[in-house]
Amino acid sequence: MALTTEELADFEKQLVDWKAELEMGQSANVLAMTEQEQTSFPDPTDQASMEIDREFDLRIKDRERRLIKKIDQAMVRIKDGDFGECDCCGGSISVKRLEARPVTTLCIECKTAQEQEERTRVD
Ligand SMILES: [Zn+2]
Repeated sequence: MALTTEELADFEKQLVDWKAELEMGQSANVLAMTEQEQTSFPDPTDQASMEIDREFDLRIKDRERRLIKKIDQAMVRIKDGDFGECDCCGGSISVKRLEARPVTTLCIECKTAQEQEERTRVD
């Protein structure tokens, strides 16, 4: 394990703060949606654009939910001592990479390989 206890504590704090931020954003969104529903829109154009907005909100919320799940998993990995370890090759993920993306489960080599594979599949 390349990470020190202090580094792990820093990452854990970062993840906890990040999750709290996301959850706060979510409840604000839910509140906004409830308020929108109580307002009536006589103009059908307004109604349509409002529905597009709502769909967009839902998509963002879906991404937020998935991110929160990843944050939870990262926190479990910190507890289990697996944090910073690549899921694919078992090697250690660089601290720089973890700082940029603490929820990552792949080292840069495996991630790059995975992305290349995905790109090939799409083509
Ligand atoms: Zn790897």
